[in-house]
Amino acid sequence: MGRIVVISTGGTIASRWQGSGYAADAHGRDVMAIAAVPEGLAIEVVDLFSVNSPRLTTAHQLTLLRTVHEVLADPGVDGIVVTHGTDTLEESAFLVDLHHDDPRPVVFTGAQLPLDAADGDGSGNLHDALLTAATTRGLGVLVAFDGKVYAARGTVKTQTLARDAFGDPSGARVGNVGFGRVSVLRPPRRAAALALPWMPDSPPRVDMVMHHADGDPLLLNAAVDAGAQGIVLVATGAGNATPEIVEAVASATARGVLIALTTRVQAGPVAEIYTHGGAVDLVAAGAVPTGTLRAGQARIAVLAALLASPDPRERNRVLRHALGEAVPADDDPAVELVRARA
Ligand code: ASP
Repeated sequence: MGRIVVISTGGTIASRWQGSGYAADAHGRDVMAIAAVPEGLAIEVVDLFSVNSPRLTTAHQLTLLRTVHEVLADPGVDGIVVTHGTDTLEESAFLVDLHHDDPRPVVFTGAQLPLDAADGDGSGNLHDALLTAATTRGLGVLVAFDGKVYAARGTVKTQTLARDAFGDPSGARVGNVGFGRVSVLRPPRRAAALALPWMPDSPPRVDMVMHHADGDPLLLNAAVDAGAQGIVLVATGAGNATPEIVEAVASATARGVLIALTTRVQAGPVAEIYTHGGAVDLVAAGAVPTGTLRAGQARIAVLAALLASPDPRERNRVLRHALGEAVPADDDPAVELVRARA
């Protein structure tokens, strides 16, 4: 049926008891030893890292991106499975997706239960990811988890412990896996792939700042002072903060800092509805609204834009391109509200 390369990066699927808690320490071959491999597949393992994903750095993620491209340079490879910690899986998967220009799939998976758990979910998730990598084409980068298949874009971790760990709270999933086959319900819409970025000696700093009642611009300004070239403002509601934060955003963007505007609400788009510190003013101050993309993926879009060019205008263009598919659908109620008032 095909030749699949498994790139192992760690996560709970590679984690074992360390005496005081769990941590990733297993190699790819140990992870693959628990896998239920679909019949007819030849598997090769690339042992890239063995770390839990909250510890991943931009350098790790860029190495993963390069490795995916190197593996796909071999025309005999039919697809890739990446085993990854679930905590930041949505970030790495989106980075690879933004630069993925190949019909062959890259399928991310992991587990909520550790490698040595008697009733662990790693084996089944690996099976589903391998089957998806071997039997689908042209769907971009995917996440296979708990019998479901999601597009990288828009997918977030939605459960801390439950096996059904992922979802797209603002959209539909791509398909399901069951009875030895993958059923595709909704092929993802994808933006044209970005060129592979250069490997910087020190990757740009991109911070996240969350707004809340009584929030002030202190942390946003601290990020700028720390040298952040990009900031994700995780605002309230449909993308709102305060007039003081609008001022801080205006002075940061004037200094060339790329600011993306997302929300701490689980689902729905950012929308320019409110003034007096709301999204209307934040966008006027230069923040770029991220549609339905949540903080982790908005941060990756900013990172990709910063890596694409040193030119601020080009960075802005690339950021909007990376966010392209996240523009709210025409029939979104928030869009209707803005239109009604215009
Ligand atoms: N809880 C995480 C996982 O499922 C830990 C990590 O992201 O590495 O893999």
